[in-house]
Amino acid sequence: MKYQHSAAQSTEYLRLALKHMTQHAAGMHPTNYTVWYEYVSGVNPPLRSELDSLLRSGERLNDQTIHDLHARHISELDAKTALRIGDSVSQLVSHVSASTAAASDEATRFGSSLARWNDELIDPATGSDALASGVADILRGTQQMQQAISTLKARLAESVSETERLRQEVARAREEALIDGLTGLANRKGFDLALAACLAELQAASVGPCLLMIDLDHFKRINDSQGHVFGDRVLARIGQLLRANVKGKDTAARYGGEEFAVVLPNTPRGGAVGLAEALRALVAASSIRRSGDRESPIGNISVSIGVADHVAGESATDLVNRADRALYAAKMQGRNRVVLAPRPAAKAGQ
Ligand code: GH3
Ligand code: MG
Ligand code: MG
Repeated sequence: MKYQHSAAQSTEYLRLALKHMTQHAAGMHPTNYTVWYEYVSGVNPPLRSELDSLLRSGERLNDQTIHDLHARHISELDAKTALRIGDSVSQLVSHVSASTAAASDEATRFGSSLARWNDELIDPATGSDALASGVADILRGTQQMQQAISTLKARLAESVSETERLRQEVARAREEALIDGLTGLANRKGFDLALAACLAELQAASVGPCLLMIDLDHFKRINDSQGHVFGDRVLARIGQLLRANVKGKDTAARYGGEEFAVVLPNTPRGGAVGLAEALRALVAASSIRRSGDRESPIGNISVSIGVADHVAGESATDLVNRADRALYAAKMQGRNRVVLAPRPAAKAGQ
């Protein structure tokens, strides 16, 4: 669930969002409300920082600005891309159907002229002049048919390449819809798909998958002391680190906010704990410099990791919950550590 606020909290966000909405030019529509809700609740720091700078510039936000913010920071498939693809597809369809209709008219005309000539040819009274003009007619009809068919063929060839271009555009848009903009990792939707695919292919694999849930330690403090822009740099760096160390059939994702997840298909629990430990140590050893800052880099950045190995018949949600509980245990035990989830009692030893 994207918004995990209590009824009282969300009522307060409604009040704050409405206050902002009434101060700007954009209409009171759901898109506008979503943008301001995400702004006031702080669930979407990149949106917040862009909106903050717009507010600082004193700009009154209109429907277009709100729509652009929504498209870039909230909706996953760029609405403009979807519209453009839709338009091209309908143009393509009307092009091909117009050519098909023209070819079919031509064929009907040709068919009736052949029928007429058939009647006249079997009539013994038909003279040779009439026969010659009939043959000329049939020839003309055949040429017109050929013309219509070759136009149709050219249109079909054009539409094959246009369809291929659109197919690639849809594939690209779909890929982008599964990627998190800040870290370049799979986003939550990409994670859900990767985990579902991995569980669906399970029968063939001898070993089940493992899941790592990773959460930055005391990230709120880092944001509070160093600012959100630096916080975002930390998230981007963690993304880089995961991209460099999680490869092949494995999927690293930004699960949400400052939480990451790694799906490791066909992996024994020992291997997963080893990777988790290596990732934890890499983060703990890294230090990040504030952009344009000559002062010493900020250290003390660490993560806690919960690891769960899948047990036969377990759902994706149950696996995530177990990894989450192990992550919580890692936090309780002092953070900057890896905890392996116990297997469910009834299924232990499987
Ligand atoms: P813990 O060690 O218990 O995990 O403490 P924490 O401070 O990391 O946990 P908490 O859940 O209290 O705070 C998470 C913070 O992460 C709060 C939120 O503002 C910040 N955050 C979430 N997403 C982003 C983001 O995209 N950018 C930045 N800069 N901060 C984010
Ligand atoms: Mg967290
Ligand atoms: Mg945290």
